Amino acid sequence: MLAEIILPLPLAQTYTYIVPQEFEPQISVGQRVAVNFGAKKIYIGIVLRLFECGIEKKYKNILQVLDNEPIITEQQLKLWQTLSEYYCAPLGDIYTAAVPADLRKDKRVKSRSKPIKADCEAKILTEQQTETYQKILELFKEKSTVLLHGITSSGKTEIYIQLIINALQQEKNALFLTPEIGLTSQLMERLQRIFGEKLLVYHSKITDSQRVKVWETLLQNTENKVVIGTRSSVFLPFKNLGLIVIDEEHDPSFKQSDASPRYNAKSVAGFLAKDFGAKILLGSATPSVESYSNAQFGKYGLAMLETRYNDIQLPEIQLIDTKESYRKKRMKGHFSLELIDVISETLAKKEQVILFQNRRGFSLALECPECGWVQKCKNCDVPLTYHRLSNSLSCHYCGYTVGNQRFCRECGCVGLTDKGFGTEQVQSEAQLLFPNFKVARLDSDAAKKKNSFAEIIATFEHKNIDILVGTQIVSKGIDFSNVGLAAILNADNLMNFPDFRAHENAFQTLVQISGRAGRQERGKVAVQTFSPDLPLLNFVCSNDYPNFFKAQMAERHLFNYPPYCRLTKISLKHKDKDFVRSAAEKLAEILRENADFSVLGPDNPPVEKVQFLFYRDILLKISNLISYKKVNAEIFNAIAKFRQIPGYKYVMISINVDV
Ligand code: ADP
Ligand code: ZN
Ligand code: ZN
Repeated sequence: MLAEIILPLPLAQTYTYIVPQEFEPQISVGQRVAVNFGAKKIYIGIVLRLFECGIEKKYKNILQVLDNEPIITEQQLKLWQTLSEYYCAPLGDIYTAAVPADLRKDKRVKSRSKPIKADCEAKILTEQQTETYQKILELFKEKSTVLLHGITSSGKTEIYIQLIINALQQEKNALFLTPEIGLTSQLMERLQRIFGEKLLVYHSKITDSQRVKVWETLLQNTENKVVIGTRSSVFLPFKNLGLIVIDEEHDPSFKQSDASPRYNAKSVAGFLAKDFGAKILLGSATPSVESYSNAQFGKYGLAMLETRYNDIQLPEIQLIDTKESYRKKRMKGHFSLELIDVISETLAKKEQVILFQNRRGFSLALECPECGWVQKCKNCDVPLTYHRLSNSLSCHYCGYTVGNQRFCRECGCVGLTDKGFGTEQVQSEAQLLFPNFKVARLDSDAAKKKNSFAEIIATFEHKNIDILVGTQIVSKGIDFSNVGLAAILNADNLMNFPDFRAHENAFQTLVQISGRAGRQERGKVAVQTFSPDLPLLNFVCSNDYPNFFKAQMAERHLFNYPPYCRLTKISLKHKDKDFVRSAAEKLAEILRENADFSVLGPDNPPVEKVQFLFYRDILLKISNLISYKKVNAEIFNAIAKFRQIPGYKYVMISINVDV
């Protein structure tokens, strides 16, 4: 007997091994086996297929069979193959991404669990919530996916909880997917109180043995469970999945972009749900344009929740024209006098303030006032960010850090000037402006120390911080009752990205930050901007999602972007700049021989050089009517043709489907 084995390596193919006779009674598909591969290395592979073969070729023997029962279900193997085809990713990459490292190393660790008793204290839904909940159940009779568009603080979580209870009552499992930073302790504690031991947690911060424990619990499938986790939870071995809830469905962290497999957990959830006949609920206050258009065109059902819990009004949003304020000298540092006023009013009412700036560090670059020289990273083509607390300069792409010497390497001029500003600077200015109040900062620098994230959140919750300065971290999922004002220091740098989703992401971030204010009684939002007339900002102020959506769709239609087509990005990288440029030109030329997609570029990505390597991107715009199998086959053919050209065999190429 022979076995086809998936190895945990980024290789396009699977490998065949001989099953020695003594293993024949034990071995089955989905089990782990130890095999030799390459120069005496032993890997743990997964049996994908078992078959008989008359002619014995020169295959190697399987060294050992590690399981008595499959640890990967047949459904998972099927899903892996679909994903491998869809995302142009080797099966081995999917195996590595999907299976906890301890299982790949065969270190089965028994972990302790601290079981918390369930008292099932789900809240009683309000009249509106009940109506929406019923509507969702109604829609599920016809549609497999429903989008819940509910404003911030309308109680979407309460509806998710009821739907999960409903799935458990029908003897089904449920999966609750949240973005990376959506997994707040507030949400976890709430779900733990309700679901107790039925709740399984799966994300990047838990230990590998905890991951294995979740995996094995689901495999045993003795009792129905609720899994809450980040994107990689879609790879768990579910047996009778009934419901997938995707909270904050617009969040970009559901897509893995930086490593293969470059999957989108929302699409994988779609494959999973189809296989199980399960239902998907997407929830958001600011749905992605793609999901909302699916709801508009009837592919998804649409349910709404248009009032906040307790009928609290959405905050009043004030736009502050910083161009005007600078001209009239009504600025103190990066704070307009208007902003200083609303902060003072809020603090006087003993309410708290959140200040948002989407960049960390003190200044974004140091520039020579004489010759314009900017200190850049030695590995990447980006300026170094100045961190005043540590008095160092660091690269936010590769982590390269140097001490701060404030002089120009070109002309020797001393006294470099700060360009742009980050959270450190906002914090220090706020502290100077409001010396009698406690100002703290929450960004990934501040959260680096163990437990400090939870500590800062808890201190803020106990009202021992008056002003909290933060990045994206503060915009999500945090439910504080006493925040009277949320302010955005510079809305412009949210919008000025060379990305067709820049405005969509800016709208989402602004609405989400606004949503942090006034969850108990009506709050305020202040937005500083150089372009107060932008339609986008007015959609934010009037909380006008439908018109925001219309404007986005018009633009996407005009320039042919998703949802009017699909995008696949092909990136080439090499240490030689000219070489990667000419290679990319050649690959684009070969790709253009196909009529099934249009080829844009090659272009420089926003950052051309990262960690000594130069990048070039080619973008394919693919009609929605053509099957991904056909398109991906054409891409692979083009790459194969390209690789036959002398010199181009080893250029690194990555494919990112559905960017
Ligand atoms: P969303 O997810 O829509 O932003 P949440 O589900 O977090 O909103 O609800 C906002 C706040 O209102 C939370 O503190 C929640 O506990 C409370 N809340 C919502 N619905 C109810 C309800 N039916 N009964 C009691 N409290 C509720
Ligand atoms: Zn200089
Ligand atoms: Zn760098």
